[in-house]
Amino acid sequence: MPVPVTPKTEAQLLEVFSSIQGEGLLIGCRQIFLRFALCNLDCSYCDTPFAPADDCRIEDAPGSGQFRTLPNPVSLETLTNILSAWCGKIPGLHHSISLTGGEPLVQLSSLLDWVPALAEILPLHLETNGTLPDALEPLLPHLEWISMDIKLASMSGTPTPWQAHSNFLALARDRNCLVKVVVGEETAPREVENAARMVHEVGPDVPLILQPVTRDGRVGFPARALLDLQERAAQIHPHLRVIPQTHQFMGLL
Ligand code: SF4
Repeated sequence: MPVPVTPKTEAQLLEVFSSIQGEGLLIGCRQIFLRFALCNLDCSYCDTPFAPADDCRIEDAPGSGQFRTLPNPVSLETLTNILSAWCGKIPGLHHSISLTGGEPLVQLSSLLDWVPALAEILPLHLETNGTLPDALEPLLPHLEWISMDIKLASMSGTPTPWQAHSNFLALARDRNCLVKVVVGEETAPREVENAARMVHEVGPDVPLILQPVTRDGRVGFPARALLDLQERAAQIHPHLRVIPQTHQFMGLL
C-alpha cells in the first residue's frame, strides 16, 4: 500500500486511547496507545482495519471510552499537547506509550521527528511486525521496549520473511525486546520450532511468547495442542511463555 505523502511533523493515525496492555511482558500496564495507519503486510488473520482514514478518533479523557475525531494527518504538536495534558491530569497512571498499528515503521519519515518528541512524555514501546529493520535502526536510541512478531506462514497466508525477522531481531535485541508468535490450529509444529531456533541463534536472552490466536473473543486453539507446542519450542529456546490476548477477555480495546 503506498504511503501518503505527509509532512514529517504529521502522521496518519487511526486511534489514540488509554488502556491496559493485554499482551507480552508489559501485560497489565496502563499505556497510551497510538494506532498508526498503514501496513506493509496483508496477514490473513488481520483484525485491524489499517487503511488510512479521513479522521483519527481520540479518546476525550484517558479510559473514558468516549471519542472525538481529528482530521488526518494529525500533527505532532496537537498530539503532544493532548498527551501531556493526560499525563498532567493523572500523574503516574501511564507506564508508557505504545506505538502500534498497522505497522508504525511504515511511516518512518514522520517517526524520525515523532519518536524523540514522544519519548520526552513517556517511555516508548514499539509493537511491530518485525520486518522493517532499516526503519528500526535510526529510532532505536529512543525506544525502551520492542515487541516484534514472527509471522508464521500458516497464520499470515504468506511465506514467513525469515531473513527480515532475523535482521530485525539482531538490532532489537539490544533493547528490552520480546518476540511474539501467533499460533493457531493451522500452525505446524515445525514452524514454531523454526521460530524458536531463529530467536535462540540471534537473541538467546530474548523472551519468546507463543500467543494463541483469538477467535470470537476466546482462545481459538486447544489447550493440549498449546502445551505440545510449548514442549517442543522450550527444548530449543527455554526463555518461553504462553500468553493469550488478555485485553479481549476484559472487554478492552
Ligand atoms: S502485520 Fe499486523 S496490521 Fe499488518 S496485516 Fe499483519 S496483522 Fe494486520
